[in-house]
Amino acid sequence: MMDGITIVYAQMPGVLRGSMALRAVVFDLDYTLAVVSSDRSTLLAEASKSAGVPVEFSREEYGAAHQRAHAHETRGPIFAELLKEGDAGEALAEAYRNAIAESLEPIDGAESLIAALEAEYAVGLLTNGPIVAQRDKLQTLGWEGRFDATVITGELEKGKPHPEAFEAILEALDVAPAEAVYVGDSVEADVAGASEVGIPVVQVLYPGGPEPDPRADAHIERRDLVRDLPELVAQFE
Ligand SMILES: [Mg+2]
Repeated sequence: MMDGITIVYAQMPGVLRGSMALRAVVFDLDYTLAVVSSDRSTLLAEASKSAGVPVEFSREEYGAAHQRAHAHETRGPIFAELLKEGDAGEALAEAYRNAIAESLEPIDGAESLIAALEAEYAVGLLTNGPIVAQRDKLQTLGWEGRFDATVITGELEKGKPHPEAFEAILEALDVAPAEAVYVGDSVEADVAGASEVGIPVVQVLYPGGPEPDPRADAHIERRDLVRDLPELVAQFE
């Protein structure tokens, strides 16, 4: 067994169901393939300052509003609700996008990982968030059109963990759930969501991140993702 990979062997036979071959690898974006070098509270404070919009809500209140809203275009409506004065919402959303773009970076070796997987499988991206915010991130990373299919859940009625989100990327890649492996960090959005629709899941772990969840078929440390993921997903074939 390779260093840094924890395979839940007891669950592997479930992954090896049927005779379907692995045809696609689908990634989450935030905290999986790309990270921000500053923490989100710092970025929001920067955005607040540059937009001249005082922010008096907490990170937790923001997270809860984000979950409730499922914003389609931008984070403007989310901020408008929290600020309780509608017209500052879009200004703050734009400043926050800019702050994130300035500190967003791919994990080391992400490009070579995508290229290595592309030699064997279709590679997709399924990311939660408003269209403008997530497109802006893909542009910053130079990843617009980089994947065989990209789904930003702002385009849909529901985001992850709703089955609609996973069905949309499977359909775009033209694969069945058992023909794909999903790679993401969030227990709720990624692990619970993908496993619910029958897609085998690799949970990405990192210091300070979510605990390993037993619903994941395998776990991998983010620092080992580039080196070890191709060999790990090959075991799902
Ligand atoms: Mg994520």
